[in-house]
Parts: sequence; C-alpha cells; structure tokens
Amino acid sequence: MTWIERLYLPAIFQGLSITIKHLFKKKVSLRYPEVKRAFAAVYRGMHVLKRDEQGRENCTACGLCAVACPAEAITMVAAERKKGEENLYREEKYAAIYEINMLRCIFCGLCEEACPKDAIYLTDRLVPSEYSRGKFVFGKDMLVEAVDQRIDISKRKKVYEI
Ligand code: SF4
Ligand code: SF4
Repeated sequence: MTWIERLYLPAIFQGLSITIKHLFKKKVSLRYPEVKRAFAAVYRGMHVLKRDEQGRENCTACGLCAVACPAEAITMVAAERKKGEENLYREEKYAAIYEINMLRCIFCGLCEEACPKDAIYLTDRLVPSEYSRGKFVFGKDMLVEAVDQRIDISKRKKVYEI
C-alpha cells in the first residue's frame, strides 16, 4: 500500500460519500405499523370468510378449498344447521370449525379460486405477528368478517378478468 492508502482516508471519504448520497435518496423503509405500504391490487394477504347481503355466512362446508389447498393448511368440520339458525347460514350445511394454519399457507389463492360460493377471499391485510406457533392457527373468530365490515370484492374480481 502507498502511504496515502495506509492513512485509510480515501477509503473513509469514499464510504462517507456513499452514506451522504443515500441521505438524499427516496426512503424505502416505512414506520410500520403507523404507516402501511400500498400493495398491488393482486396482492394476497390474510383470508376472510365472506357473508352475503343478509349477513349470513357464505360457506357451505363443501370442502373444495381444503382439497385445493396444496399446503394442507385448511381444516374444516361440517355441521348441519339447526332450527332457528336460518338467518346465520345460507344452506343447511355450514362449517362448524374452519381453521387455516397461517404458518403452512403460501397465499397462493387456490382456495379462493376453488370456492363455488365466493365464501373465502384473500384480502390485502397482513397476517398479525404472534409469539407462539399455535396462535397462527386462525379459526372462525379470526376469519369470518364482521357483519358491519363486509369487504367489497368487486375490485379484485376485475383484476382477475384482465
Ligand atoms: S392461499 Fe393457498 S396455501 Fe393458503 S390456504 Fe389457500 S389454498 Fe391453502
Ligand atoms: S370456503 Fe368455499 S370451498 Fe371452502 S368449504 Fe366453504 S364454500 Fe366450500
């Protein structure tokens, strides 16, 4: 090394110049969760089990989503509707237990594609972080959408049609 190189000053200034250059560039990091990034219209995040216009659960427990799932992430137990439950479920059969293991899921969207009732839909919501593996198994309490917070899926459908 020359005596100038031994001073390490050129290398230090070179490093500083790179740092200063990046100071004025557009920031790529966000202050999550206060700031959330906008995802592409085709982004697939956390699932939701849809309700119809009358607030009844769309899912009829046919099991097609579980069969289509390549990761075997869906567990479902079907049950028959009892008298008086007409306003909760659309058909006689419904999913008494419906669970998705988010650690297995690869967010491929095949469950959504397979569903004949438009009952399952992958939203643009991120799956929340948890501290234990068991908490990543989401049941109906996490998946069925609230009556007053139904998601309009018409936007997503348009993307598929293109
Ligand atoms: S998105 Fe894919 S992997 Fe995840 S539950 Fe649906 S079919 Fe299974
Ligand atoms: S979500 Fe759809 S495909 Fe899956 S069991 Fe319910 S109705 Fe069938």
